[in-house]
Amino acid sequence: MALNIKENEELSLHTTFKAGGEVLFFIEAFSKEDLIEAVSFAQKKDLEIVALGGGSNTLFKDGLHNRVVIKVSIPGIEEKEVGENVEIKAGSGVSWDKLVSFSTKKNLWGLENLSSIPGSVGGACVQNIGAYGAELKDTLKEVFVFDLKNKNFTTLQKEECEYGYRESIFKNKKGYLILEATFLLKKNPSPKIEYKDLQKFFLPAGRQVKDLVPQTSEEVREAVISIRAKKFPSLKDYGTAGSYFKNPIVDMATYERLLKEYPDMPAHESEGEMKLSTAWILDKVLNLKGYSEGQISLWKDQPLVVVNDGSKSSEEIILFTEKIKKIVFDKLKINLEEEVIII
Ligand SMILES: Cc1cc2nc3c(=O)[nH]c(=O)nc-3n(C[C@H](O)[C@H](O)[C@H](O)COP(=O)(O)OP(=O)(O)OC[C@H]3O[C@@H](n4cnc5c(N)ncnc54)[C@H](O)[C@@H]3O)c2cc1C
Repeated sequence: MALNIKENEELSLHTTFKAGGEVLFFIEAFSKEDLIEAVSFAQKKDLEIVALGGGSNTLFKDGLHNRVVIKVSIPGIEEKEVGENVEIKAGSGVSWDKLVSFSTKKNLWGLENLSSIPGSVGGACVQNIGAYGAELKDTLKEVFVFDLKNKNFTTLQKEECEYGYRESIFKNKKGYLILEATFLLKKNPSPKIEYKDLQKFFLPAGRQVKDLVPQTSEEVREAVISIRAKKFPSLKDYGTAGSYFKNPIVDMATYERLLKEYPDMPAHESEGEMKLSTAWILDKVLNLKGYSEGQISLWKDQPLVVVNDGSKSSEEIILFTEKIKKIVFDKLKINLEEEVIII
């Protein structure tokens, strides 16, 4: 089927922030062939390609983007038994949460802590999504991509994807379009419920650990869904991309300086450095939970989440978040970095 090439497409229709400008050309690719055609269209016009999945971690600036947005909507989930494990291969356009649900319905283990995260399998591979003590890279095996520079299809093993905290080769080099990702999931029960909120859920005060360990990955999924429902605004009612900022990683000297002033400050060690909690800083140090300006605010139940209540302008969101970064720097002398990708 011929490609449907839309011109001057409103980008607010394609991101969960529901704001931003227009793009000169917008193409949705449902297959390998569509993708090749869309890439060759962009290259003939000499325009930059921007890949898009569910748009749940992207903020497009206002104005006209002289680019081609290719929304990668490659479908399909396949599974294959490999000894004690099961390999699941998913098209990059599959909804991430559908993939998680597919795996927990079969009582496979590995994706359940990442339940209820919006967006596509492709976007999840770019961001190395993480939640409740798990990250995508814990179960990913390999990613099948189109290499824009060499104009060929290739498979990158997990080790080649340069994964870090919300980082990957895809985020840094932008030379790849992801078509498929393969995950290695366990048949043997392997619940990961050390994360504080999950422990609380499965271990109400006074109960015995041995009685309460979840028996199925679906149980963990349901726990995560119910915990998250209390923290995030509904995407039906608000624009948001979830956590706007990353948690800052600081050196030991900075951590010790802050600890003197804020003895309760939570932190985790990460390769000799300390990862702080942006949500805690915004809430407990700066009292900014629910802080708003115009239609933009820090969510009342989770201040790391920036919420857009009806503005079409991404400039408003960017100005608001720059102000938050300045407040944090003025008080703590640390820099917040965006988790959201601003294009
Ligand atoms: C309410 C809410 C809660 C959230 N909770 C979490 C959370 O708990 N943990 C977490 O980590 N994230 C969370 N997020 C952020 C977001 O859902 C994830 O980062 C998600 O994986 C983004 O996927 P997407 O398909 O929407 O990506 P998009 O926003 O469409 O794209 C993100 C980046 O990936 C690139 N990209 C997308 N698809 C492809 C492809 N096929 N090939 C190459 N590049 C591609 C884009 O160019 C862009 O740079 C949350 C977001 C919301 C709105």
